[in-house]
Amino acid sequence: MKYRSILLFGAPGVGKGTQGKILGAIPHFFHCACGDVFRNLRADSPLARTFIDYSGRGQLVPDKPTIQLWKHFIENNTEIGRFHPKTDTLVLDGIPRNVAQAKILRNTLDVTAVFYMRTKDEESLVARMQRRAIKENRLDDANLSVIRDRLHVYENETKPVLKFYGRKLVHNINADQSPAKVLADILRHAAKQ
Ligand code: ADP
Repeated sequence: MKYRSILLFGAPGVGKGTQGKILGAIPHFFHCACGDVFRNLRADSPLARTFIDYSGRGQLVPDKPTIQLWKHFIENNTEIGRFHPKTDTLVLDGIPRNVAQAKILRNTLDVTAVFYMRTKDEESLVARMQRRAIKENRLDDANLSVIRDRLHVYENETKPVLKFYGRKLVHNINADQSPAKVLADILRHAAKQ
């Protein structure tokens, strides 16, 4: 059985996490932010060290351990009764993050919609990330050159995922609106899932 899923897609700092948290509070939606799964690892575990190494340079963590960790997370949440694959829709944020991951997950995910959150104001992304660095104690947001590297990785490695899923699944969302309006635009389609 494949997991019914919708993807929150867009550049770092565009507001995926904000929307994901709200959507995840709606019954029958289960929010999974891949970056949060990494950040919640025990600091002394080998994968946490790998995560700090890659994310601290703005790079993606290698695909194999990423997918393995994500699968464990989903399976654990199923076991403890937080996620019900038969009735719930996964709200994925930060995964799949490149075409290789999308291919690995081809037989695992039934992606019904991709919400492509777009901004006309790239500089506001940088400002948001710098604010977040202080608020959420995120090392990868603290340094301007790492932020720039993350934006490059997004352009070169993550954006091609849109093409993988194809135009029919992709909904353009204007992320320059208030969070409530962004949510309304997402829900217009997501509520039908
Ligand atoms: P942002 O949305 O601001 O880029 P995330 O919290 O989603 O932040 O991700 C932070 C870091 O975690 C990424 O830069 C990357 O190093 C790592 N990461 C998160 N998800 C993945 C993934 N699916 N594959 C590889 N690396 C990931």
